[in-house]
Amino acid sequence: MFDVSTMKGQDYKTLSRNKSFKPIPLELNVSVEIKNKIKKDVSKNVVALIPGTERKDEVIIYSAHWDHFGIGKAIEGDSIYNGAVDNASGTAGLLALAEAFKKSKATKRSLVFIALTGEEQGLLGSAYYAEFPIFTPKKTVANINIDALDSPGKMKDLTITGYGQSEMDEYAKEAALKQNRYIIPDPEAEKRYFFRSDHFNFAKIGIPALYASRSYEGFDKSIEEIKAYNDNYRINLYHQPSDEYDPQTTVLSGVQLDLQLFFNVGLKLANEDTFPKWYDGSEFKAARK
Ligand SMILES: [Zn+2]
Repeated sequence: MFDVSTMKGQDYKTLSRNKSFKPIPLELNVSVEIKNKIKKDVSKNVVALIPGTERKDEVIIYSAHWDHFGIGKAIEGDSIYNGAVDNASGTAGLLALAEAFKKSKATKRSLVFIALTGEEQGLLGSAYYAEFPIFTPKKTVANINIDALDSPGKMKDLTITGYGQSEMDEYAKEAALKQNRYIIPDPEAEKRYFFRSDHFNFAKIGIPALYASRSYEGFDKSIEEIKAYNDNYRINLYHQPSDEYDPQTTVLSGVQLDLQLFFNVGLKLANEDTFPKWYDGSEFKAARK
């Protein structure tokens, strides 16, 4: 008979993270009942197109989710979940990119800008797009997803979430180098952020996707200042009513650099005739075939 007392003081989270973990029979039966309410809603993805001059059917898709949480549980008397960083910043960035491309020389391939809905409810807008794509996935050159543009100033590095998956890394590196910046892999890869934003649904149907967000080394801010800035977002603002636009504190110089980088990645892809590839070993490679 299993002695429950041997489980005393054990933390299942720690246990299950230990590589040598072996399941322990608890010899307990548990009945659980969950009451749930389902609310159905209709929402829309918004799609815009700038046609290319030579190969109109080949597209580069920029995406950013426009939804957030709306009105929710009040925290310190505030129940409006603004989502200024997550993801009004990305949505504004999407519009800025479209405007910049519209003002520039037309590209050979087409450019598509999709404001996706329902990301916070489980990547719903991008899942819908992946199921009913408007542009042939095989001819969709790449996806550049923007989710949270946020930094305390001009930053040297930029994190690619899901680094090592595809040649999109190389495009980002080249664009970063032009700005005297560099790309880093996600330092928190174990949190599997690659599977937690909309680019994942593009990747699932074989479209090489780039998702880059978060920096740790600045041109004119100390490592400590940046860490404090990032920690403050993670702890005090992320998914809370306090993720609010504040003209006094919002700095856009770093955001501008990131957007210029995304612009240059898209510009290069839009004038090439090759397709970026998934690396061998990537779980998304097979879907491209
Ligand atoms: Zn987001």
